[in-house]
Amino acid sequence: MPKYVFDFTEGNKDLKDLLGGKGANLAEMTNLGLPVPPGFTITTEACRHYLKHQALPQGLDAQIDEKLAALEAAMGKRLGQTDDPLLVSVRSGAKFSMPGMMETVLNIGLNDESVEGLAAQAGEARFAWDSYRRLIQMFGKTVQDIDGELFEDAIEEAKQHKGVSDDLDLDAGDFKALVQTFKKIVRDATGKEFPADPREQMKQAIRAVFDSWNAPRAILYRRQERIPTDLGTAVNICSMVFGNLGMSSGTGVAFTRDPASGQQGVYGDYLQNAQGEDVVAGIRNTVPLGDLERIDPASYAALMDIMETLETHYRDLCDIEFTIERGKLWMLQTRVGKRTAAAAFRIANQLIDQGLITLDEAVSRVTGDQLAQLMFPRFDYAAKRHRLGHGMNASPGAAVGRAVFDSYTAIKWSRSGEDVILCRRETNPDDLEGMIAAQGILTSRGGKTSHAAVVARGMGKTCVCGAEELDIDTKNRRLVAPGGEVIEEGDVISIDGTSGAVFLGEVPVVSSPVVRYFDGEIDPASDQADDLVRAVHRFMQYSDAARRMNVRANADTPEDAARARRMGAQGIGLCRTEHMFLGDRRALVERLILADTDKEREEALATLLPMQREDFVGIFAAMDGLPVTVRLLDPPLHEFLPDITELSVRVAVAEARGEEHEGDLRMLQAVHRLHEQNPMLGLRGVRLGLVVPGLFTMQVRAIAQAAAERIREGGRPRPEIMIPLVGTVQELEIVRDESIKVMREVGEEAGVELDFPVGTMIELPRAALTAGQIAESAAFFSFGTNDLTQTVWGFSRDDVEASFFSNYLEKGVFGVSPFESLDVDGVGRLITLAVQEGREARPGIKLGVCGEHGGDPASVHFFHQAGLDYVSCSPFRVPVARLESGRAARR
Ligand code: ADP
Ligand code: MG
Ligand code: MG
Repeated sequence: MPKYVFDFTEGNKDLKDLLGGKGANLAEMTNLGLPVPPGFTITTEACRHYLKHQALPQGLDAQIDEKLAALEAAMGKRLGQTDDPLLVSVRSGAKFSMPGMMETVLNIGLNDESVEGLAAQAGEARFAWDSYRRLIQMFGKTVQDIDGELFEDAIEEAKQHKGVSDDLDLDAGDFKALVQTFKKIVRDATGKEFPADPREQMKQAIRAVFDSWNAPRAILYRRQERIPTDLGTAVNICSMVFGNLGMSSGTGVAFTRDPASGQQGVYGDYLQNAQGEDVVAGIRNTVPLGDLERIDPASYAALMDIMETLETHYRDLCDIEFTIERGKLWMLQTRVGKRTAAAAFRIANQLIDQGLITLDEAVSRVTGDQLAQLMFPRFDYAAKRHRLGHGMNASPGAAVGRAVFDSYTAIKWSRSGEDVILCRRETNPDDLEGMIAAQGILTSRGGKTSHAAVVARGMGKTCVCGAEELDIDTKNRRLVAPGGEVIEEGDVISIDGTSGAVFLGEVPVVSSPVVRYFDGEIDPASDQADDLVRAVHRFMQYSDAARRMNVRANADTPEDAARARRMGAQGIGLCRTEHMFLGDRRALVERLILADTDKEREEALATLLPMQREDFVGIFAAMDGLPVTVRLLDPPLHEFLPDITELSVRVAVAEARGEEHEGDLRMLQAVHRLHEQNPMLGLRGVRLGLVVPGLFTMQVRAIAQAAAERIREGGRPRPEIMIPLVGTVQELEIVRDESIKVMREVGEEAGVELDFPVGTMIELPRAALTAGQIAESAAFFSFGTNDLTQTVWGFSRDDVEASFFSNYLEKGVFGVSPFESLDVDGVGRLITLAVQEGREARPGIKLGVCGEHGGDPASVHFFHQAGLDYVSCSPFRVPVARLESGRAARR
């Protein structure tokens, strides 16, 4: 029979799978000799058995009885003993902490008899009756599923009846009366008496913990966080210590460093004469942990000692729950604590300096997501700020603007040059235009997977969502804060998407020192650099040395290219050419499209050629010596033509007035001819190159001539010509042969040898499935993961993201949008296949990825594993990709 129950002395911190996080760490502290109240842990294995068979495993009860007997012997008192009862808490604790799991039940073991014994032992009747009512309250709420408000209301009533506002002013008699009321609540709700037998209380609580593994909120959380559903939870039985035994007792939480900034110091809260969750529940005001030094110097000193022991032992920031019972300190929980991005970098760096961890380990503890957070502009901490309230930090950044309450006003005001913050209860697809127009989005409902959050993240727009304490009244166009402040339409507010805070008025924004460092404005060795910049610098150097993959940037202009290079890009992985056909050049493109004869078309192309050449000269100069992958024209031609409705109206009006409209009419015919039901799947990419004679060769000529010019000037241009949307090798072969011919011609004219690689994007499933054939004719592959995701899923991103993605996320169909983080199971499988067959056909073929997935941490790890040579992403994400490629390589 498996061992289902472990005494705290039998476990350790590495047994989280079996004992859960809480149990493993309680055991670890026990073995360190720290003052942990004795107890034992029931394993996740027992839970898994229970969930599978809907029955406790054979022998579990006997094992519990055995450990309980040992505990009773050690404590010198028995559960339910009438004159001096042993009390325990029953605490859930899975491997990952999870909202929705059952909350802890304290004071198990009390009943009408033992409460008297407890009172006599403690010499405190009030304490005993307070503990008893807490038991019934917690048990009723969490084990028996009774509405917690019923109990809260009864306490409120008791206070009002007595004319007091603080629970400290209720006495033994009041609590005794409350116990009677609570028992009646239980009777009314369940039809049964509150269980008086302590072993029965324990048994029911254990089952309830197991059952809570499948509580709807827990299931949803696991689905969204991709936590396996079959882990199960452990249950901890821990003998009670009492922080509610008068003013020499109390309970608190502490951190070994500041989890917000990472600085060393004393951080935490303490509450005298209180039990368990009183600290977090905010029932009374806590005092800062530093005050404990004055209240109870001995316990304070002991706590400081323990905190140091824990930090040195865990070699990381720990958070701690402790209780002081009449001057004696007890440790109730510890774990490696959560922290902000800045704290993560600072702490990891400090710990290296303290000799506690290696640089290698430090880098494993900071993430690209955290680095990305540090790169957003933020509000000036030093500035005076008036905080209105707080919601969820759904999409990072700092946004300031006038509050508007509907999409229409957002669009109207932003057109006239105003910055606006769109405030809605929640958003839906109708709000899309307003969201685009706004600087930031604020909602009072919905979580991180709500429509507002998903769409804002997709657009890279600042968003605070689910700020429930703010009353957003769209009808009356105003927002009321919990402090009573009223924000009318047009009033300025500031929202912090990184922390979730909302402020009144304009808060000054400061640029990120980390970005200034990457931009070369802050020298990490100088006094200008603070400890955060120095930490970032240290970890980036390490990652750059460790990584196998190169990091390139997506950049279309010389300015972007130069910035990307400063951010550490090792070339351009995607230089789009479509913007080179807009603006003044639109007229030329129109001429090209409308051309009736070869001559007209060639003239249009000939006018475009020198302009294109200049575009490339600038980019090659900015990226001198590094590869620049130029993608030939990709979008459908109609994107360069006037809007069909506007044009139709113009033609109709001209006709009615009998005016000349020959040009417009021809244009309208062309627009009709090029109109597509599904442009994403229509005439674009290589298809365009094959259908519009001379278009791609003009682009290749411009690239080749620009390169020749750079060579003449002593530069080292390294263009790579990339053909988009190839589905079959034949398409590629035609364009490639033409391109090679053009390069040769230009090379002969210029007297230099031009032989640049011609490769293809892999962004259609068919291209991936026939990668072996395509590789025969391609010098490189670049996975266009955005289009590949669209075509693998059959999603048109613009259509689906705003319409039903939040719904899918909330239902847990996917944990994260496949456009944010690569769908490894589907899209990733095609990539793996294409990598394998591409390399088989052409060993040494260069393989990369362009598209925003190249800057997404999880995706970067996948690309590393898949064996790609480089990733390419927007210049701003280049540092993130550098860090994550390094982290992926060190694994
Ligand atoms: P959570 O996972 O929500 O932190 P815990 O199991 O840690 O739940 O317990 C909730 C509260 O009860 C915490 O403040 C904890 O310190 C306190 N607590 C738990 N067990 C005991 C105990 N045996 N004696 C005193 N306080 C306890
Ligand atoms: Mg806890
Ligand atoms: Mg594409």
